[in-house]
Amino acid sequence: AAAAAVPRPVKKSAKLADVCYDIRGPVLVRAKQMEDEGLKITKLNIGNLASFGFDAPEEIQLDMIRNLPNSAGYSDSKGIFAARKAIMHYTQQKHIKGVTLEDIYIGNGVSELIVMAMNALLDAGDEVLVPAPDYPLWTAAVSLSGGTPVHYVCDEANGWLPDLDDIRSRITPNTRALVLINPNNPTGALYPEETLRGIVDIARQHGLILYADEVYDKVLYDGASHTSLAAVSDEVLTIVFNGLSKNYRSCGYRAGWMVVCGDKRHAQDYIEGLNMLASMRLCANVPGQYAIQTALGGYQSIDDLVGPGGRLRRQRDLAHELITAIPGVSCVKPKAALYMFPRLDPEMYPIADDQAFIAELLEAERVLLVQGTGFNWIKPDHFRLVFLPHEDDLRDAIGRIARFLDGYRKR
Ligand code: PLP
Repeated sequence: AAAAAVPRPVKKSAKLADVCYDIRGPVLVRAKQMEDEGLKITKLNIGNLASFGFDAPEEIQLDMIRNLPNSAGYSDSKGIFAARKAIMHYTQQKHIKGVTLEDIYIGNGVSELIVMAMNALLDAGDEVLVPAPDYPLWTAAVSLSGGTPVHYVCDEANGWLPDLDDIRSRITPNTRALVLINPNNPTGALYPEETLRGIVDIARQHGLILYADEVYDKVLYDGASHTSLAAVSDEVLTIVFNGLSKNYRSCGYRAGWMVVCGDKRHAQDYIEGLNMLASMRLCANVPGQYAIQTALGGYQSIDDLVGPGGRLRRQRDLAHELITAIPGVSCVKPKAALYMFPRLDPEMYPIADDQAFIAELLEAERVLLVQGTGFNWIKPDHFRLVFLPHEDDLRDAIGRIARFLDGYRKR
């Protein structure tokens, strides 16, 4: 008999060398270990609404259950008709012009579609402008697709709005596209129409494709309203992303969509690429697709939770008040979404490695945050806090953070 081959180390692909997704990184692994040991960890790290008692609307659940018997087969690669029709109507409500059923792709959450959209576009050397801080899947998807993420700065001193001059300064002949996350994760910023128009002007001048992640477009506080980037970008190819995960507390149903909007005249080849990738994965999870029409056609979105006296709004207000009361901690108050991105004064908290800082906080106080550099922020002086826990739990957790920081300061 032939001798068995000497086992070779099984290495990950070189494609992954620059890919990073720290929201579920090493500190989370340690938190899970601590939980297995029986410790209670307060998780201010992930925007998973259902795990904090924000249940998906009952009508959506009932309709999914009712449709389960029809959901056993593959659907059209782009998604079932009724869901895409509902998404088409949603784009009309958002004043996005000229969207047809063919422009709509349903995916296993927005996440799958972000990766698909980048994979279909990028070649080695192509650059994509991504915000700093960002939702890190965008940076990771650009890298995984062989492109180069180039970060533009969102300006904390200006309510975390994208810095248009900084964007302009980073454009090169290799820049293909710009990503906008609005409402923003991790900062909670909501962009005014003027900012959107500025971005569109830049894209038009430089021939860039726009990618707009609008997955929090209904999670708005203080009576704010959201303008879709695609509503003001008729002349620019714009791909908009949205889904049920956040607006309808349904992360686990994995129902998201992407809509190709704006000027598609020169994009036929790219669209063929998108169609091919959509076909290759056959279709998105079908029960989740059945939730979409009911969700978008109903009254059961997140309005009650974000309105005056609503649970999310109260928790945002409380978390912001408590976190900014800690010496040396400042924070732009979020206008939208589920997060805030506080700053630690580097004079008082000289942090060299913010992942180590977050790990230390976890060990000492059993509170889990995500470090700012996990969102491709430039300096180790921020962290992201999710304000989903109930008020009592937030009070307790932020009290622990304050105690930890007090010790850190006095070292
Ligand atoms: N985009 C942003 C900005 C997010 O914060 C998230 C999830 O946290 C996603 C996309 C992914 O959403 P989905 O559940 O639709 O994959």
